[in-house]
Amino acid sequence: MTDLIRLSANDLSGLLADRSISSVEATTAHLDHIDAVDGDVHAFLHVARDAALQTAADIDARRASGEPLGPLAGVPIAIKDVLATKDMPSTSGSKILEGWIPPYDATVVARLRAADLVPLGKTNMDEFAMGSSTEHSAYGPTRNPWDLERIPGGSGGGSAAAVSAFEAPLALGSDTGGSIRQPAAVTGSVGVKPTYGGVSRYGAIALASSLDQVGPVSRSVLDAAMLHDVIGGHDPLDSTSLTDAWPSMTQAARAGFEDGALKGVRVGVVKELNGSGFQPGVKQRFDETLALLEGAGAEIIEVSAPNFEYAVAAYYLILPAEASSNLARFDSVRFGIRVNPEDGPLTSERVMAATREAGFGPEVKRRIILGTYALSAGYYDAYYGSAQKVRTLIQRDFDAAFAQADVLVSPAAPTTAFKFGEKLDDPMAMYLNDITTIPANLAGVPGLGLPMGLAPEDGLPVGLQVMAPARADARLYTFGAAVEQLLESTWGHTMLSQAPVLAPNEMFASEEGVV
Ligand code: GLN
Repeated sequence: MTDLIRLSANDLSGLLADRSISSVEATTAHLDHIDAVDGDVHAFLHVARDAALQTAADIDARRASGEPLGPLAGVPIAIKDVLATKDMPSTSGSKILEGWIPPYDATVVARLRAADLVPLGKTNMDEFAMGSSTEHSAYGPTRNPWDLERIPGGSGGGSAAAVSAFEAPLALGSDTGGSIRQPAAVTGSVGVKPTYGGVSRYGAIALASSLDQVGPVSRSVLDAAMLHDVIGGHDPLDSTSLTDAWPSMTQAARAGFEDGALKGVRVGVVKELNGSGFQPGVKQRFDETLALLEGAGAEIIEVSAPNFEYAVAAYYLILPAEASSNLARFDSVRFGIRVNPEDGPLTSERVMAATREAGFGPEVKRRIILGTYALSAGYYDAYYGSAQKVRTLIQRDFDAAFAQADVLVSPAAPTTAFKFGEKLDDPMAMYLNDITTIPANLAGVPGLGLPMGLAPEDGLPVGLQVMAPARADARLYTFGAAVEQLLESTWGHTMLSQAPVLAPNEMFASEEGVV
């Protein structure tokens, strides 16, 4: 049954639909594999074995009785711990929420259940989604299945590692500045940040509300599209949810498999995201991909987005400002742990201070202090106000770029996975990991990350990022599926389909050598 763990969600879906396999078999295979490898990978904070098997058995019984079920019915999925789940702890990677079981499901989780997916458990993440490596998780880091000495990206390193280590065919992530796309890049997975407002944030533990989006993580573009169709669409419980009628992302992805899908597509290469600071192997794979796209009939155009240079600076004012406000709710009364001060009177203020001191990690404290300062009366205009103006300039850069190009491309991350500890003591170095992904969050446009081979110097996965105008998520799936197919037919593999678990580098050692 171990082969079941290698299948895409789409393939599992076909086998489940014609009853060649049962959901209990698919779920058991993944749970057994989690048991076998997660001691090393640590993608999961919580595994819900009994509940998952019960859900799978119920779905099998309903299928056997002839009930029509959705396309992903019976397919297992991992859920980032930032999402509220009423039957599993939801900690957002923080001590302050240790053991907290929410009284309700996030809308995206409710939609997974309604579509009969099988939740396997909750995945590890940087505390409150702050970070690019999972080293800020209060529960210890996740390891990259490609090299256990290296980070799996962050904050959603658990979801990306679960998918790339074949512990789950699908996962949910959340992306505030790159936390779906950057982990996807460094683990060889696919990840999508939808248009802001395209997927409900209700029940997603807030980091920065104007930037956060929930999105799919998978091993193929089609699988991500299928999951997007389940979780996306208007939610009256989220006041920023768009009321658009969305096209089928699954159909959009399938359109990418048609001949000539790349012909005439105007692909904008963002000059500011293609320059210095990138690892040579990342740059090399990116340039090769551009050449292949051109060969397939796409038109490669250089576009300039001069204000992207200020994106990271603006983000690290806007995000801490919003985070400091959002995290004020952890007051020792309403959620999670309560810690009394060691001595002195038990006033509510002192209990709150002792709880927050013990419950928050150093990165969270750093950002609360930064955000509180940026919002303080004397500095509001100079910092937060200026950052919001930069945000508008970045949106205008996108508008100008999309007037010339249908999609924009860049590497999804400046380097391959780095070693544990390498950037932990240098917050600036950590923040710069998201230099390519942050602009999309600031402007609310969708972005998709997909694998583009391995860096020659270290044999680790490299990611391509594709961005489209707001609301044009379907275009990302069509283009992404076409690029995925192009790279596969040229380089002879899909990124992970043949990966020996925990030794995936071997998969590229073909006759022509490592691709
Ligand atoms: N790494 C970025 C940060 O630390 C992105 C986080 C995210 O997208 N949740 O803020």
